[in-house]
Amino acid sequence: MSIKITFLGSGTSQGVPLIACNCEVCTSADPKDKRLRSSILIESAKTRIVIDSGPDFRQQLLREKIKRLDAVVYTHEHKDHIAGLDEVKAFNFINKMRMPVYATTRVQGALKREFAYIFADEKYPGIPEVDLVDFENEVFTIGDLVIEPINVMHYKLPVKGFRVNDFAYVTDSNFIAETEKEKLKNLDVLVLNSLRREPHISHFTFQEAIDLVNDLKPRKAYFTHISHQLGLHAEVNKELPSNIELAFDGLQLVI
Ligand SMILES: [Zn+2]
Ligand SMILES: [Zn+2]
Ligand SMILES: [Zn+2]
Repeated sequence: MSIKITFLGSGTSQGVPLIACNCEVCTSADPKDKRLRSSILIESAKTRIVIDSGPDFRQQLLREKIKRLDAVVYTHEHKDHIAGLDEVKAFNFINKMRMPVYATTRVQGALKREFAYIFADEKYPGIPEVDLVDFENEVFTIGDLVIEPINVMHYKLPVKGFRVNDFAYVTDSNFIAETEKEKLKNLDVLVLNSLRREPHISHFTFQEAIDLVNDLKPRKAYFTHISHQLGLHAEVNKELPSNIELAFDGLQLVI
């Protein structure tokens, strides 16, 4: 079964361009230097899910003309990954369905704090209708997609990566234990966060991400969650070996 991946966004928490920045990346005319907050769409013939719904979720759904969504799956609770949850009410209304939202117990706690009105006992009319679904380490299925969680560390915060068939998506992180790396072997495509060149407390740098690709040896790797500090898309891409590319918003892969 093949799956299609669409990068809804490939930018770090502030997006690119960064508000009020005049650097060459933020003022670049190349559409590939415009990065909404990181999120991907995963589609099979029958099932369509998103991994994360950041602050740009509405714009991303409109751009990709998404008319139906079967579930939202969260990596972690940082605002650049969850802020768009309210937008699922469009699907509640149009498709007449409640939205399944897959999150760990800790992330569910954050969703209940950040979106208290959604989970209030007394429901205001017109608010999003979501059904929280718990997962932790076990493989789970949504429609015909079989999803394996991967545990990664984002400084001290445990974050989930996900493997679907021979594709894996690992956003915010700067450490993966050897036992979890085993789950990332024999991949066709690995997506990995690569923030910038300078060291960062909670994200892989450009070189760290390259080193990890060389260690895990997927057939192909794409870097995401990119900061304006990494440089111009076209120039950074030229530095990379042929098996690695920077992702960009709207990039589609069939795996
Ligand atoms: Zn992030
Ligand atoms: Zn900038
Ligand atoms: Zn984060």
